[in-house]
Amino acid sequence: MNYISPSLTRTATSASLFETARHVIPGGVNSTARAQWSGWLPYPLFVERGEGSRLVDADGNHYIDYLLGLGPMILGHRPRKVTRAVVDFIEQRGTVFALPTADEAVLAEKIVAAVPGVEQVRLCNTGTEAVLYATRLARAFTGKRKIIRFEGMYHGFSDGVYWSKHPPIDKAGPDHSPKAVPQGPGMPRGVEENLIILPWNDAQALADVLAKHGEEIAGIITEPVMCNTGCILPRHGYLEAMRDLATRHDVVLIFDEVITGFRLGLGGAQARFGIRPDLSVFAKGLGGGFPVAALGGRKEIMSLVADGTVSMAGTYTANGIAVAAANAALDELGQDGVYGQLDAVSDELRTGLDLVLKQAGLPAYTVGVGPLMQVWFASKPIHNYRDAERYADQGLFRRWFEGMLERGVLFHPGAYENLFVSTAHSREDIAVTLAAAKDVASGLAR
Ligand code: PLP
Repeated sequence: MNYISPSLTRTATSASLFETARHVIPGGVNSTARAQWSGWLPYPLFVERGEGSRLVDADGNHYIDYLLGLGPMILGHRPRKVTRAVVDFIEQRGTVFALPTADEAVLAEKIVAAVPGVEQVRLCNTGTEAVLYATRLARAFTGKRKIIRFEGMYHGFSDGVYWSKHPPIDKAGPDHSPKAVPQGPGMPRGVEENLIILPWNDAQALADVLAKHGEEIAGIITEPVMCNTGCILPRHGYLEAMRDLATRHDVVLIFDEVITGFRLGLGGAQARFGIRPDLSVFAKGLGGGFPVAALGGRKEIMSLVADGTVSMAGTYTANGIAVAAANAALDELGQDGVYGQLDAVSDELRTGLDLVLKQAGLPAYTVGVGPLMQVWFASKPIHNYRDAERYADQGLFRRWFEGMLERGVLFHPGAYENLFVSTAHSREDIAVTLAAAKDVASGLAR
């Protein structure tokens, strides 16, 4: 791939900073999602600062930001009350104590009150950690060892689950019974024997595998909305079927709400769709931009942590910064009308983009729920990872991304990522975005 973006002329400082960084940081960046091969070609934008719905790059270009740090900045950049709470905590109280503070139970009470499936909750630092604990707890609770995970999803980068995220489909086995494909070399051998990979949105495939191997299966881990292969909604009745099958086979249902949590409402996707998982994992939306994650669920399962049967540790868990940030973020998100307004602005964007693309005559549509969405350049509906691989036009998506970037609207260059809207995005931001989209779409249609 050798994409030459027209915006190169305006991003010379990013180019030079990338050149410097490449010598001392592998790939010049500190995450795969910022790497050249994740779409940031020929180099990522280097950020000067963020403010509300806006991002300013190192060359002083301003963008309306729908990347939002890949999700954490649900209150926009530098949310005043969250920043204040963190600064006050650091200045007045400290950061890490290796002992609890009263603030932790205050936060846990807020999470328990907000999220239907959470009776008790433990904090950790990242979504990856929370998933690791969730799968371990599922195994400890059931005494079984296999975890079902779905092709195209991402549950963090630990050895136990970093399989079959985006495998080449010609090497990944049949559509209905995919095989486990490691992220790359370096994964320990044999881990995949504890995994069963399934296509998402296929209740029959799940029912069949549980009927055959239910006595070996400890847990099912799923995002309630598939957010790591673009945005794919659950088919009608799919999550209900999953809940029902998990109960019937004594399998722990784990919702990975790292992206949907505190975004599709204070109660996450589980409240929005009315499905109660046994365990839930949260991260991005919880901390208003600060690193904090959580694992919560049924008391009966969480009690294995209480009595030390399953250890959940970590020097930095529930550190002062994380807890102050999450307490302040949930207070902000819990204000009356916040999600109503966020949904209204987001709906305007989603329906507006859809209209613009259709009016331009492009084979494209927008899929999403609330402030979470993605555009698919495809003429067929996409229900799972293999549909996306077969039907999505990545080349057209790339031109769409570049056109929008050129007009001051920042999306992720990857078609398998999402567009996020924050409470700081205004109707004016949406109007500017839609005007840019109209312009870009008409260019793509020519
Ligand atoms: N689960 C999902 C659904 C995610 O999207 C991510 C990260 O993008 C993770 C887990 C891992 O979270 P973290 O990056 O905080 O480790």
